Amino acid sequence: MYQSFIGLEVHIHLLTKTKVFCRCRSAFGDEPNANVCPVCMGYPGALPALNIEALRMGCTVARALNCAIPERTWFERKQYFYPDMTKNYQISQFASPLGREGYLELEGRGAGGARIARKVRIKECHLEEDAGKMIHTGAASLLDYNRAGVALLEIVTEPDMESGEEAELFIQELRRIVRYLGVCDGNMEEGSLRADANVSVNLPGRGLGKKVEIKNLNSSRFVRLGLNYEIRRQGEALDAGKAVVQETRLWNENRDETVPMRQKENAQDYRYFPEPDLPVFCPDGAFLSSVEAALVELPRPRTRRIMEDYGLSEEQAAFICDEKQGADYFEAAAAAAPGEAARIANWFLTDIKRVLRRENIAVRDIAAFRLTPPRLASLALMLGRGRITGKLAKQTLERAAAEDRDPEEIVRAMGWEQLADPAAVAEAVKAVFAAEESAVAELRALPAGSGPGAVEKRRRVLTAFLVGKVLAATGGRADPKIAGERVASSL
Ligand code: ADP
Ligand code: ZN
Ligand code: MG
Repeated sequence: MYQSFIGLEVHIHLLTKTKVFCRCRSAFGDEPNANVCPVCMGYPGALPALNIEALRMGCTVARALNCAIPERTWFERKQYFYPDMTKNYQISQFASPLGREGYLELEGRGAGGARIARKVRIKECHLEEDAGKMIHTGAASLLDYNRAGVALLEIVTEPDMESGEEAELFIQELRRIVRYLGVCDGNMEEGSLRADANVSVNLPGRGLGKKVEIKNLNSSRFVRLGLNYEIRRQGEALDAGKAVVQETRLWNENRDETVPMRQKENAQDYRYFPEPDLPVFCPDGAFLSSVEAALVELPRPRTRRIMEDYGLSEEQAAFICDEKQGADYFEAAAAAAPGEAARIANWFLTDIKRVLRRENIAVRDIAAFRLTPPRLASLALMLGRGRITGKLAKQTLERAAAEDRDPEEIVRAMGWEQLADPAAVAEAVKAVFAAEESAVAELRALPAGSGPGAVEKRRRVLTAFLVGKVLAATGGRADPKIAGERVASSL
């Protein structure tokens, strides 16, 4: 049995309006080469200027990952030659990353439901520019520089994880955090969140092994599959008495295996040197407080708090907290309907989820949902106070969402207010008894006090039938409990 070590390098696209060193639009899906200028095209003499918003977003992520922000931070040029970067260097950070020595605590379930509880140390977070995109066609390779110069934050972990499942959980948790912070959309398919995974195995107690890097994994599932494949492959190599070659490999999603890409270059090969065209940045008090102000309550602590504050199960709280906007929606409604949180949570997980899907509204855009938190709250209160039945509450919910109406107004207009007047329920029971004479007679003739068995079963069927008739006679407005009691006492 070998011990395995996994460290991740995750790149996230920051949601700044403009690129990190020029004022070009930073957007996905625009016409190729629509968003370029002399700076991001690397024309000689063009000078970069730092986008402070990118630095603020980067520092906010660093703080959310418990990193310290240094007193001084600057940029280096990382030399490399490839057509996706016309300058032949990338502006990045090497000696003074904007965040250092943080951690992220993982909690969840791994293979076979095994519990994962792991503190993953964050080595650093640094800001850099993305490269352009190469599109290989049959005849030629095309270049789109819209992405060149887009603000990229690289988050590097220490090799603290041990399984593909843990690394997958890390990616998912990080994705949730950056979405909560609103600094990245976390879309792995479109490349706004990309991961390189480093992995080695060794005999227990021997420390790190020879590392293999799996490049450009574009889904958290591939991170898990690629790593577990590598752990197996490297273990088998060692078993066979072979050495693991330190190299970069690629995940082949069609064959479910990693394949060699290149032998890895060393840091020296990049010949990092300080970027002479950008000044050192010294965060001042105002900058640091703007970073603190951008920090929101993060998904994990919020899940825990929502569980406790509203008495929900972990599963419910986790579902509610999956997106910040969903949690905000839930809490706004719950605050406006004291004592009704459980009911609201229940609706959120069932009816609201269904209606949102039907209306094609993502939870992230729930602010556009016509069943606003105050409306949901008023509906929950009507049900909680017995003013409407559960069944009509669901119908009101549907209508409020579909017709953009206030639940109070719907209930009034439809005459759905529950029959609270016992005399009115008694009236309905009387009418039903008159109309359903044979059922009433059969029920009355059944011997009383008999235990479980055919007779008791028949009694229940007939009673339910009569209660159902009473509810129907009142248009579903009678309280089922009161109707049941009244039917029983009228026999
Ligand atoms: P490099 O200089 O090759 O980029 P780094 O020290 O910067 O290597 O580490 C890159 C990533 O690889 C980090 O996430 C780190 O945790 C991980 N890593 C480094 N060495 C190993 C190893 N022997 N086994 C597994 N992961 C490793
Ligand atoms: Zn530009
Ligand atoms: Mg490195």
